[in-house]
Amino acid sequence: MTRVDVAVVGSGPNGLAAAVTMARAGLSVHVHEQAATVGGGLRGATLFDSEVWHDLCAAVHPMAAASAFFREFDLAARGVVLLRPSIAYAHPLDGGAAAVAYHDLAATCDRLGPDGRRWQRLMGPLVRHSAGVTDFLLSGQRSLPDDLAAPLLLGPRILEHLLRANGMRTEPARALLTGVAAHAMGRLPSVAAGAIALLLGHLAHATGWPLPQGGSVRIAEALADDLRSHGGTVHTGHQVTDLAELDARVIMLDTTPRSLLALAGDRLPQRYRRALKRFHYGPAAAKVDFLVSEPIPWANPEVGGAGTVHLGGTRAETLTTENSAVRGVGGAEPFVLVVDPAVTDPGRAVGGRRPVWAYAHVPNGDARDPVPLITRRIEKYAPGFADTVIASRGVPATEYESYNPNYPGGDIGAGAVTLTQSVFRPVPAWNPYRTPLPGVYLCSASTPPGPSVHGMCGYLAARAALRAEFNVTTIPRLGPDDGAGPAQRR
Ligand SMILES: Cc1cc2nc3c(=O)[nH]c(=O)nc-3n(C[C@H](O)[C@H](O)[C@H](O)COP(=O)(O)OP(=O)(O)OC[C@H]3O[C@@H](n4cnc5c(N)ncnc54)[C@H](O)[C@@H]3O)c2cc1C
Repeated sequence: MTRVDVAVVGSGPNGLAAAVTMARAGLSVHVHEQAATVGGGLRGATLFDSEVWHDLCAAVHPMAAASAFFREFDLAARGVVLLRPSIAYAHPLDGGAAAVAYHDLAATCDRLGPDGRRWQRLMGPLVRHSAGVTDFLLSGQRSLPDDLAAPLLLGPRILEHLLRANGMRTEPARALLTGVAAHAMGRLPSVAAGAIALLLGHLAHATGWPLPQGGSVRIAEALADDLRSHGGTVHTGHQVTDLAELDARVIMLDTTPRSLLALAGDRLPQRYRRALKRFHYGPAAAKVDFLVSEPIPWANPEVGGAGTVHLGGTRAETLTTENSAVRGVGGAEPFVLVVDPAVTDPGRAVGGRRPVWAYAHVPNGDARDPVPLITRRIEKYAPGFADTVIASRGVPATEYESYNPNYPGGDIGAGAVTLTQSVFRPVPAWNPYRTPLPGVYLCSASTPPGPSVHGMCGYLAARAALRAEFNVTTIPRLGPDDGAGPAQRR
């Protein structure tokens, strides 16, 4: 293999974002992927001998709709249609009750009754400063934000979230907000979970919580197409086991610190190795892909219009189950996220069959079969669901790592999301992407700003490497219309 400027290990959204950015700077880029297809957490497949497409990992994309990387890359202009449900997320409660977050903020506030005004005061200003808030939270947080209102709005709100659930007094509003905070997959309440609740919570009323028409794989395909059209190449089906395999001036690792330790061995200085070993992994996901014969029969029919459904019960119940998972205790009623993609994208139902995507938050390394666990949880709020199931496939937390080495013990965040590990991810350093090995960078969700499909870890790592290794200070343009506008200088 001939020497290239940049070798990228891993083709998840961050690896591809790094690859695209560096290819756009005119460098030769080669991506190495252990799986048979590109995309990492964006991959999907047909299962159960049917033509129905299942998202194997990520399904819903508030971050891809809003992040600076994807705003620049412009998915829509590449034919990726982000379908935005009018109800971003719903949270069923006992007795057929439910709390609902509409895309429309005013409608959400109306529905929340006595807490409506408080929801408006919480989310309204964030929605008005949405790009600034998003860019601040999805940054490396090592420079002044462009919109100074963002930290000023977020600071007091995060504190209030920590102390008193942002003042929400009724159970539906408290449960609704706690369900969004649970996306942090960590201790509740916490600063990190508060920041995630405000980021995802306000995005529901701004750019929305969309699903890509046809599945998440469309995003990976758009990134890979752009890479190839700028001279990049992708090699699938081979796991890189040693950095020495790669003949490149710069190596970008879309991997965890644990993999970096394995790939580099004792070439890394002792101190850095010790720091990487201190990086810890959080609770895990256990997922079920269902093939069903009809839409989920939610007891509250309004829940059936939601893109995403959170099954966590009351605020107190969600706090208990999430904190138990952090402590390594797996309960019988875990927090579960459910998506029936055909609600938002009717084309996902084929011949009267449709996919249902659901995963539970469980302790790291939990070996339980999630099928009965998750089926029971959905049945509780949608009696009769089990009768609609034609086939199901459970992936316990312990199996995720063999599917994707970036999910140690089933931690799909590639590292616990705590306050310290959000900023000092993976180690305390001004430039968290650069490793002590010359030309070797980390660019995965184990670096700031952390998990989700936003491409920002790869984008920021690529910019750091372009500056330091190639003296490229002009940020390459990423849009599909090459040469149409000025590049940015930083
Ligand atoms: C069940 C589940 C549901 C999720 N739901 C959502 C969601 O709805 N919305 C959302 O925004 N996010 C979601 N996520 C999280 C999201 O998928 C990840 O945060 C995101 O994919 C991280 O991107 P990444 O590029 O850092 O890593 P990944 O997407 O994990 O990609 C890493 C890639 O590197 C490859 N790789 C690793 N090591 C090597 C090696 N040594 N050699 C070759 N290849 C290697 C892996 O095979 C993989 O393809 C979900 C994740 C899971 C698992």
